[in-house]
Amino acid sequence: MESVIVVGGGLAGVRAVEALRNQGFEGEVTLVSAERHRPYDRPPLSKAVLAGDRDDTTVEADWEALRVRLLLGERATGLRPAPGGGGTLATTAGDLDFDGLLIATGATPITLPGDGPQHVLRTIGDALALRERLTAGARVVIVGAGWIGAEVATAAAAKGCEVTVVEAADTPLANAVGPEVGALTAPWYAAAGVTLRTGVKVAAVEPGGLLLAGGDRIEADEVVTGVGVRPCVGWLEGSGLLVERGIVTDASLRVTTEDAARGGPGTVRPDIVAAGDCAAWWSGRYGRRLLVEHWDTALNAPDVAVATLLGREAVYDAVPYFWSEQFGRMVQYAGHHPAADRLLRRGDPAGDRWTVCWLAGDRLEAVLTVGRPRDLVQGRRAIAAGARVDPEALADPAVAVRDA
Ligand code: FAD
Repeated sequence: MESVIVVGGGLAGVRAVEALRNQGFEGEVTLVSAERHRPYDRPPLSKAVLAGDRDDTTVEADWEALRVRLLLGERATGLRPAPGGGGTLATTAGDLDFDGLLIATGATPITLPGDGPQHVLRTIGDALALRERLTAGARVVIVGAGWIGAEVATAAAAKGCEVTVVEAADTPLANAVGPEVGALTAPWYAAAGVTLRTGVKVAAVEPGGLLLAGGDRIEADEVVTGVGVRPCVGWLEGSGLLVERGIVTDASLRVTTEDAARGGPGTVRPDIVAAGDCAAWWSGRYGRRLLVEHWDTALNAPDVAVATLLGREAVYDAVPYFWSEQFGRMVQYAGHHPAADRLLRRGDPAGDRWTVCWLAGDRLEAVLTVGRPRDLVQGRRAIAAGARVDPEALADPAVAVRDA
C-alpha cells in the first residue's frame, strides 16, 4: 500500500493520520477535510468555548513530522472503489487515487423545519456565533434536552439568559439513557433557573420563536436546535458501500458492500475502513451494530481502522463511554444498557453524587455516574471484563464497585 487518504479532519481524522505514522506506514498520506480549520476538539465547544474560557480547541499534532498533504476546505463528493482494491475519491480539489481509504466524515446536526433562524452547535464557528448571542436577558429557547441541549442551557443560564428547554419526550435524555434515569436530571434545570417543558413537539422555527405542534408559539430571541446528528454519508451514494444509519463495517472497521443488503453475501473491503461518528461497526461484545457518536470512539477506533488497513488483525471491541458537564455536574456513562433487565441506584439522586447501574441478571451492563468518577472507572472495568456483581453490595455506595 503506497497511498492512504483520510477523509474528514475531525478527531477521528487526525487520530487516523497519527496512527498511520505510529504504526509505521511510510507511504503518502492525504487528509481531505471540508472544514478550513485544522482538526479541533468538539466537546469544549459547548463547555469552555460557550462559557468564554477558550477560543481555540485545535488538537495538538506535529503536522510536519506526520508528513501529510492537508487538503482543508475541500470536500469528498464521491467514491469509486476499484474492483481489485484501491480506487478514486472524487473531491472538490479533483479526483484523488488511493490504495487505502479511511472514512471519518463524522456527523452533522439535524435542523428543524421553518424559515426562522436557528443555531446548531457542531463547529467552532457555530460556538463562537452562539456565544455572541448569549447575553444577559436574551430569551434563549433550546430544542432538545439531550446532552448538547443541557450543556447549552448550562452556559446560557450562567450568562444570565432567560432559558427555556423544549423536549418532545417526557424527560430529558430519554433517548440516551431512558426515561427513568433521564427523569433524575429534570430537577437540575429548575435549580439552574432554566424552564424545562417536556412532551412538547415543535412544528417549525419561525422568525421570533417556535411554532408548536398544537399551534401555540414560544417567543425567542435565539433558538438553538439540539435534536441530534446524522452521519455525513450522502457523498457515498452510488459508491456501492452499504450505508444504513452510518457506514456499515465489520468488527475490524472494514466497510461492507451493498449486495449484503440485497441478500447477497456482501464483501468487506480490507482497503476501505471507517471510524468515528460516521461508522456503524459490528460489536462482537454486544452482538449488534453500534453507532456511538462520542469522543472516546473517535479517539480510539482509528487505531484499529489503521491496523486493519495495514493488513493486521485488529478488532474494535470497546465498551462505549462518554461524559457530559451539565449544571455544575460531571455526568459519565459507560456500557450499553438495552439488554439490562434491572436498574439499581447507588446513592440518592436528589444529592450531588450518585450512580445508577444497569444489570442483566447479576452482570453489570452499564453505569451512569454523577460526580462519582471512581464508580465510572471501576464500573467500566467490570463491564469490560463481563464481571458478575452482588446487586445488594452494589446498591451500597459505601462499597466500591470493584468489591461488589
Ligand atoms: P467530526 O468531529 O464530525 O469530524 C468530521 C469532519 O469531517 C468534519 O470536519 C467535517 O466537516 C468533515 N467532513 C464531513 N463530510 C465531509 C466530506 N464529504 N468531505 C470532507 N470532509 C468532510 N462527546 C463526548 O463523549 N463527550 C462530550 O462532552 C461531548 N461534547 C460534545 C460537544 C459538542 C458541541 C459536539 C458537537 C460534540 C460533542 N461530543 C462529545 C461528541 C464528539 O465530539 C464527537 O463524537 C467527535 O467529535 C466525533 O469525531 P469525528 O472525527 O468522528 O467526527
